[in-house]
Amino acid sequence: MTFASLGLIDPLLRALDALGYQTPTPVQTQAIPAVLAGRDLMAAAQTGTGKTAGFALPLLQRLTLEGPQVASNSVRALVLVPTRELAEQVHESFRQYGQFLPLRTYAVYGGVSINPQMMKLRKGVDLLVATPGRLLDLHRQNAVKFGQVQALVLDEADRMLDLGFAEELRGLYAALPKRRQTLLFSATFSEPIRLLAGQMLDEPLSIEVSPRNVAAGSVEQRVIPVDKKRKSELFLHLLRERRWGQVLVFAKTRKGVDQLCETLEAEGVSVDGIHGDKPQATRLRALERFKAREVQVLVATDVAARGLDIDDLPLVVNLDLPINAEDYVHRIGRTGRAGAKGKAVSLVCADEVQLLAAIEVLIRQTLRRDEEPGFEPDHRVPQTDASGQILKKPKKPKKPKTTGAKAALGRWVESEAPARPQVKAVRKVPSFNTGPRKKKP
Ligand code: AMP
Repeated sequence: MTFASLGLIDPLLRALDALGYQTPTPVQTQAIPAVLAGRDLMAAAQTGTGKTAGFALPLLQRLTLEGPQVASNSVRALVLVPTRELAEQVHESFRQYGQFLPLRTYAVYGGVSINPQMMKLRKGVDLLVATPGRLLDLHRQNAVKFGQVQALVLDEADRMLDLGFAEELRGLYAALPKRRQTLLFSATFSEPIRLLAGQMLDEPLSIEVSPRNVAAGSVEQRVIPVDKKRKSELFLHLLRERRWGQVLVFAKTRKGVDQLCETLEAEGVSVDGIHGDKPQATRLRALERFKAREVQVLVATDVAARGLDIDDLPLVVNLDLPINAEDYVHRIGRTGRAGAKGKAVSLVCADEVQLLAAIEVLIRQTLRRDEEPGFEPDHRVPQTDASGQILKKPKKPKKPKTTGAKAALGRWVESEAPARPQVKAVRKVPSFNTGPRKKKP
């Protein structure tokens, strides 16, 4: 699949080439032709899936090929986002993708002076990225008119409702032309989002690119910080100490799979491994034996594990974190299925801090860390959080002269901030109002 085969015009293809995008992501493959054809869209897609280009590219194309020139104080396409950071980020994407197109784009949001924004809007802009509150202000002051709006995007719709923008969205909805294309993107589809979609979309195409259970909350997730070289030893220790039953273990490399298998075998654990080097028949047999509970531990790489259909697994262990944060979601989705409670334990070393941060951003949750006594790492894993921030690596504590190293390490217990819930509680109300207003951008 190429971007050209999706029907994109040359100036967009050149921009993508300059950015080094070679193949469309799954959300792009599905969204681009549908949006070009003028359909409404309801997409379950999170940050990191390439969703921005999924709506930006076809919108830029439609704005270039169709419709009248933009009038003063008018806009032809609107992209609503929950925060000013996202407004800047999304606008930057539009600028990059549209660098060879003769279109005017702009971003407006609250918390900064409104006057320069009013000035900029005077000439009219083809595409405006906006937070709902500021957009409504601008509209009420006649700085922006909606008569020419032919397309509306609601990006991160769930966050907009979480942030208390329901009222503004209602106000904007009332002011927008009824005939328009609407695209709604949301990580979760709670009742209020469905209600919003029901009101705003017209026979939308539904697309979903990340498993629903990322937000199901039925999987208890833990990180255990450990030094890289002690991962196998820690796994064996946990298997015994915690009397784990059947476990599906993910390792990054084929070598990693083989090494863990050898270590476990030597200790008398019934284990099998699957990775891309093994013939398909061997992989299938390993899987069948695991499903039949003839082996306790199955160690796999992501490639080999794709499409594995194993239900009712109580536990998934990440011996290594995946390079691709989305794979984490696929991995932990092997447990906690069909309403059952599952556990996912990740053994994380200092080298993997970037991967951990990327996962936490994707799942919008700071993973709880539990140190295992006796396995506290010498190389500390810097603190991370769901904003993607990595706090400076803490200095290793100096060893006290009179006590042992273990006592010193004991002071360095990782923070155990409770995990933030992934799906925010929503009140069931007859409109898409989700409750108390929180801080706005
Ligand atoms: P998004 O999910 O829209 O926030 O995009 C996530 C990241 O993926 C951004 O840094 C994009 O620049 C990048 N990206 C989006 N689509 C592609 C693609 N087809 N090939 C390579 N990178 C991409």
